[in-house]
Amino acid sequence: MMLRHLFGANATAETMIDAIARDAQETGALTGRPVFAEAVMETMRTVPRPAFVPEGEKASAWENRPLPIGHGQTISQPYIVALMSELLDVEPDARILEVGTGCGYQTAVLCALGAVVYSVEVVEPLAMAAALRLAELGYARATVRAGDGRGGWPEHAPYDGIIVTAAAPSVPPALVDQLKPGASLLIPVGRAAATQSLQRIRKYHDGSRETTTVLPVAFVPLTGGRG
Ligand code: SAH
Repeated sequence: MMLRHLFGANATAETMIDAIARDAQETGALTGRPVFAEAVMETMRTVPRPAFVPEGEKASAWENRPLPIGHGQTISQPYIVALMSELLDVEPDARILEVGTGCGYQTAVLCALGAVVYSVEVVEPLAMAAALRLAELGYARATVRAGDGRGGWPEHAPYDGIIVTAAAPSVPPALVDQLKPGASLLIPVGRAAATQSLQRIRKYHDGSRETTTVLPVAFVPLTGGRG
């Protein structure tokens, strides 16, 4: 009851932004980003999260927590979407690959930050609904395809950044292959249902890579066998 009261039925874009700022501050020692870029915060304020959730969840859409979107999947917690967007350091016209479109919320946030986004979703009805929603909302630089994203999307590679929004038991090598030198892959790594660690893998010009662990997270699993 108390929790319900704290989340409140009257969360707004402003209360969501405040909650994100608080979480950023509290996790800053781990993430190295206690304060997110103004562009990231402004984008979180303006991308209409209610447009990405089912009818029955609209009243909760500005709450800083994941929500069900059907097919056993969720829309990610706004703070996590903001954090991953922040860590990608999106430059104008950056080409970003997203694995796990879901409802397309993270896709929209990256587009609003100026990126050209290629997004792959394994659940076909979700991919179709997200593509339609993003087009209707005017995110013209998002392209969604249905399929297994563990192989990336080689036709549009290399990417200035890759973001995986489902947890993998290990890092799919194809995704690292499709990174530009100097670019980063953000991916939650760990067993489904247990706590995973959000990892950032940076690829260097000499082909070497560096992995840093950002934060413990909890994502739905990246599906499709051995990973
Ligand atoms: N980015 C979303 C979060 C989606 S949840 C947001 O902004 O809220 C993770 C999504 O990854 C789910 O929709 C799930 O179906 C999808 N997924 C799981 N395994 C996948 C795979 N192998 N390839 C592509 N998408 C996958």
